[in-house]
Amino acid sequence: MSYRVDSYSLSGGGSIDWVPNVGWRMKHQSTKVKATGMSRKLSDLTIHGITKHATSRLTRKVKPNCIHNWKHTTHCVRFAINFRAVFQSFGTDLSDPTEERQWRKLVHRAINVRNRNPKLDDWKCRLCGCEEESMLHLIQCLQAKPLWYAVLLLCRDVLEAPDMRGSIERAIIFNQANPKDMLPTAACAFIRHAFNTFYRDFAMVDTHHKPFDWQRTFNGAMLSYQRAVFAWAESIKIFTTHRRYTKQTRQVPEDTLHRFPKLVTFTGNGLAYHLTSEFKKAVHDAAEAVKRS
Ligand SMILES: [Zn+2]
Repeated sequence: MSYRVDSYSLSGGGSIDWVPNVGWRMKHQSTKVKATGMSRKLSDLTIHGITKHATSRLTRKVKPNCIHNWKHTTHCVRFAINFRAVFQSFGTDLSDPTEERQWRKLVHRAINVRNRNPKLDDWKCRLCGCEEESMLHLIQCLQAKPLWYAVLLLCRDVLEAPDMRGSIERAIIFNQANPKDMLPTAACAFIRHAFNTFYRDFAMVDTHHKPFDWQRTFNGAMLSYQRAVFAWAESIKIFTTHRRYTKQTRQVPEDTLHRFPKLVTFTGNGLAYHLTSEFKKAVHDAAEAVKRS
């Protein structure tokens, strides 16, 4: 889609040889920025701004198809979902878009499973070989269920989430604790890491003929999550250290240092951090379980 800047005004006079910065806007844009009340400028027309404006015109009042399809397809769920809360929860301190990639595709019903491929003769699940391989079946498959139970137990025991083992689909697909509320951020992030790791191992059953071992997948999820916790804590440590040795005065807010108390604790206002013994034990136990299996 092409877009053109089709209107500008010259408040203080002007000519074709001298065009003022102030007064330029895109088609269908107001002349003033709503938040500031200031006139729009040519220099405001960045690629990001133009893309955002053009996209909003295409998607205004359009709901993602997944909202309808999760409720009305053959393999649908039969509980209320707060999709607005789910979409707003995309991206956390402990999970970036890459780490959430496969989980977001699941929410949008865009993940590749066998029953989406009409050319395939066999739609049986690659893990259990019994049921049709649908997106919902990824959560309900008997071979995958021990993984989801382990994930939800960790969320309950370490990440302060309620026990969601009676609502696995709600917790894993939508990261919701009930029809209104999301699970705690740390639990949402861990489930997203776990689903990313699961989908990699699930795909490798077909692509590399590698057997699925839920304990190995769980260990992979723990390591991925631990890396994200380290990265977040390290960013705070670097920020604090930088502020200490420069003239910039803004510090990390106190509540940020206590955002994930079950995972990491800070000392020296953010100059050093330590993983909690609970979290370290969970990582250790997951690794030991792989050795025993
Ligand atoms: Zn299955």
